[in-house]
Amino acid sequence: MAIVYLCLGSNSGDRLKFIEQAVSFLNLAENIKIVRTTALYETEPWGVKNQNWFLNMIVEIKTNLKAQDLLLKCLNIEKTLGRNREKEQKWGERPIDIDIIFYDKEIINTEILTVPHPRMHERAFVLVPLLELIPDFIHPVLHKSVSELYDDLQEVENVMLYGTRGMLDE
Ligand code: ATP
Ligand code: CA
Ligand code: CA
Repeated sequence: MAIVYLCLGSNSGDRLKFIEQAVSFLNLAENIKIVRTTALYETEPWGVKNQNWFLNMIVEIKTNLKAQDLLLKCLNIEKTLGRNREKEQKWGERPIDIDIIFYDKEIINTEILTVPHPRMHERAFVLVPLLELIPDFIHPVLHKSVSELYDDLQEVENVMLYGTRGMLDE
């Protein structure tokens, strides 16, 4: 069994429902067991700024699926929830995104899959939730812990616990 960290994200439609449905589809899948999840976060868009904020969370799963099959499973769940990449802008609005962040300590570089996720270390919306679960986990390529990667962030987009963002308004 591999321990895998998946990052879920949604910024269009009923964001909460898409995240909840993604979690329950993962949990229903044969060969996948959800071990822990982080809190839910509301996060400022990364890369393409002028769009809705995202909801993000990280899910820790145990699985005997190979990484490539797990990716296919995740892409399938995205499709079931109405994701259509052909209509999207890169890093733009989407009902659901499921990325594989870590798959044990494996390093994978195929045409369709790169693990650890190649941009995870630049993203507060990934690192902040991960700090809850595995602050001392060492990134197998960068050889730094999750908390060191967080400390190294150059640009830190806003990452707030879901439900607290409105508190910033006047
Ligand atoms: P980013 O990868 O920067 O977060 P994105 O999630 O918007 O961008 P997508 O359009 O969802 O990108 O994915 C494009 C392709 O990325 C997927 O079809 C998949 O084959 C590939 N991919 C490579 N590595 C991973 C990974 N670790 N997790 C998920 N998809 C990956
Ligand atoms: Ca993504
Ligand atoms: Ca993705």
